[in-house]
Amino acid sequence: APQNYDVVVVGSGGGGLAAAIQASDAGAHVVIIEKMPTIGGNTIKASVGMNAAETRFQKLKGIEDNKELFYEETLKGGKFKNNPELLREFVNLAPEAIEWLATNGIELNDITITGGMSIDRTHRPADRSAVGGFLISGLVKNINQRNIEVLLETSVAEILLENGAVSGVKVVDEYNDTRILNAKSVIVATGGFSANREMVVKYRPELDGFVTTNHKGATGSGIAMLQNIGAETVDMGEIQIHPTVEQTTSYLISEAIRGGGAILVSQAGQRFYNEMETRDKVSAEIIALPEKSAWIIFDDQVRANNKAADEYIAKGFVISAPTPHELAVKINMDQETLQTTLGRYNQFVEQQKDEDFGRTTALRHPLNQGPYYAIRIAPGVHHTMGGVTINTDTAVLDAQKQVINGAWAAGEVVGGIHGANRIGGNAVADIIIFGILAGRNAAAYAKR
Ligand code: ADP
Repeated sequence: APQNYDVVVVGSGGGGLAAAIQASDAGAHVVIIEKMPTIGGNTIKASVGMNAAETRFQKLKGIEDNKELFYEETLKGGKFKNNPELLREFVNLAPEAIEWLATNGIELNDITITGGMSIDRTHRPADRSAVGGFLISGLVKNINQRNIEVLLETSVAEILLENGAVSGVKVVDEYNDTRILNAKSVIVATGGFSANREMVVKYRPELDGFVTTNHKGATGSGIAMLQNIGAETVDMGEIQIHPTVEQTTSYLISEAIRGGGAILVSQAGQRFYNEMETRDKVSAEIIALPEKSAWIIFDDQVRANNKAADEYIAKGFVISAPTPHELAVKINMDQETLQTTLGRYNQFVEQQKDEDFGRTTALRHPLNQGPYYAIRIAPGVHHTMGGVTINTDTAVLDAQKQVINGAWAAGEVVGGIHGANRIGGNAVADIIIFGILAGRNAAAYAKR
């Protein structure tokens, strides 16, 4: 016999978990369906943090920020292709989302910066560790406290419609058995399609052969499922490559390392661009180098301020040496050139003015405390900005911009918020902000 719920949440990344918690708090009977054997989706790999302007934590640190500036910088970073209504909602709700997390025991009270932003507004855990694991374990704790059911190794194959409104889903479980779950609301939080090479290449042939930073489950199945019930898509060709990916492991080197003061250097030993520019631009500059790769270089002060750096060292792909001289030898770089590059950069830090590439943020401190570190990096497929269309209630829209009753979507499966280039720290913000909203609206709709 079919099982009955108010709300089915598809996907257990940050978007799905936030939606499920909020829907449950709104009194709905909720189930989470996850096709992989573990919870957390691609969110668990999120590194740098969650952007928000005008938060309590910024004020506590004396950081003055305003929503309008956050809006404008995100729009500029997205090449003015962002959906203005969704972006406005995103910026407005961001501080509340930071508080919603804090209320649920997930406090992001340390703050750093990412490329394309002019102010420290990337919120992260107090111990400066990567945000993903911290966020997922905190959300899972909340799921357990509420006894919300999670079905692992179960994938949603189809969203069912009855008289033009969602009536439930068809799921396939780990034994390959098919079942129907009834629900008036289905929240699709299935993430992006960076790990679906065929789909990536279909929209961007030149990305064939690029590694991806994403987990295996990022296949875009939610997009196809929603298209089958009439959903419209937008910006499907807008696929972000992240500039700093370690190529042998596909491990993403967090923007927090550059945000903490690291620089990018070519094999020739020279800086070649403003490291704090947006991801699309930094990636393009790396691809334009003769080796199509570069080195991220930092000193022990940068390492000490980023827990992720120790994780990279433990992974074994960080090259280190007591002096820049010895580091250059190890990475086959001209010693004089690297020495000159570091000296010149350190002078820019002292004067707080980068005369070569106009870097204006994260000129934190001179890179002069050994040991020194280098990681070889090149771009990798990281985020798909395109996806299904929604309104500011997170209701899924069809080609006529009409709501498909009972269908909701949140997170990377949605297109439009980030335009042509997503800013670092805006994906975690996106999934939490719109996850909460989807949970609230889907519960209210199902129980009305
Ligand atoms: P977001 O960041 O938008 O919250 P994530 O990528 O973190 O998204 O998580 C999406 C989750 O959805 C992943 O764990 C993925 O395995 C899961 N998922 C994708 N498609 C399906 C499906 N058809 N059925 C069930 N789970 C799915």
